[in-house]
Amino acid sequence: MSALAFMKRHYDEMAALRQDLHAHPEIGMQEYRTSDLVARKLGEWGIEVHRGVGGTGVVGVLRAGNGAGSIGLRADMDALPMHEASQLSYRSTTPGVMHACGHDGHTTMLLGAARYLAETRHFDGTVNFIFQPGEEGVGGALAMLADGLLERFPSDALFGMHNRPGLPVGAFSIAPGLAMAGGAFFDVVITGKGAHGARPEDSIDPVLVAGQLISALQSIVSRNVPPADVAVVSVTKMSGGDAYNVIPHSVTIGGTVRCFKSSIMEQIKTLIARTADGIAAAFGARAELDFRLIFAPTVNDLRHAQDYADAAAELVGETHVDRDAQPVMGSEDFGFMLEKVPGAYILAGGGDGAAPHHPLYDYNDETTPYGAALYARIVERGLPRRNAP
Ligand SMILES: [Zn+2]
Ligand SMILES: [Zn+2]
Repeated sequence: MSALAFMKRHYDEMAALRQDLHAHPEIGMQEYRTSDLVARKLGEWGIEVHRGVGGTGVVGVLRAGNGAGSIGLRADMDALPMHEASQLSYRSTTPGVMHACGHDGHTTMLLGAARYLAETRHFDGTVNFIFQPGEEGVGGALAMLADGLLERFPSDALFGMHNRPGLPVGAFSIAPGLAMAGGAFFDVVITGKGAHGARPEDSIDPVLVAGQLISALQSIVSRNVPPADVAVVSVTKMSGGDAYNVIPHSVTIGGTVRCFKSSIMEQIKTLIARTADGIAAAFGARAELDFRLIFAPTVNDLRHAQDYADAAAELVGETHVDRDAQPVMGSEDFGFMLEKVPGAYILAGGGDGAAPHHPLYDYNDETTPYGAALYARIVERGLPRRNAP
């Protein structure tokens, strides 16, 4: 039976599992029930289970034959801190927590692939099923890497996937290189000297410094980043001052940086620090930068992106695979893993429906057979079984 036929045969079971996860969402790094369920299922299917990898992460290891090759398949498990607005029978039972990004579906797809590969073992080598906690900006990928994910479970290549509403079910889309931007958050605390609003001569005015700094930060991209590279610096927050007649002691501004290259992220960080220091100094104030890298850029390796697209085309036909998707300014922490091991990240069509992070979003169960079969086929194609002697 083909991988896709297997997944379609088990459709009802997988949909029920996904809807159970949907009804019991857990916030990033607190996926206790979810990781229990994942570990139990993997164990039931005879897969070696490792728990507590980077907090609530789970890794399943499946070997077949004695090939030295290895492939890692990664799915995320966490939900978001938001209220679900739907009236679905399986809507969130935890107030203020919702599977609004479809990670319930990603977990289910990877479980489907694990089950199929454990039952059929039409491959030669090792598969690592990586169930990652905390993808939504709370450091789950880095936690797994810090816990020795790649040393304990070495993989020659890593493959990840995200559902994509707006792309038809059964269609796939992949970028041949840069896929998603890297993202950072920053705060700059500007400290001056408070005074009466009518006596500016007694002050070092941090509000004035903040105004100059916000304008100057806009020259970082326009005058320093090569125009062929894409980058965004947005100041999105300011706070400081409580009264009409008081010059405050300090002001804080904050924002986000998005770009596609780690070297440019480093450059922008250095330039924000230099600009803040220099402008503050010119006014006799001080500036302190807190710069936090939240997401690495997600960059697909060309060969692995092609392998992924080839496997997808075999499943659904070439006309349903976009091999030349444009990069997006959104971010994904799988990028940190792809910085260490080559691999690729693909989008699986989710059909009509609300966009991720919308209170009415619901992962489309129809996506599961295609995504699960693709995970399985990238293993079977990448670790082919040798013919019997
Ligand atoms: Zn999300
Ligand atoms: Zn997501």
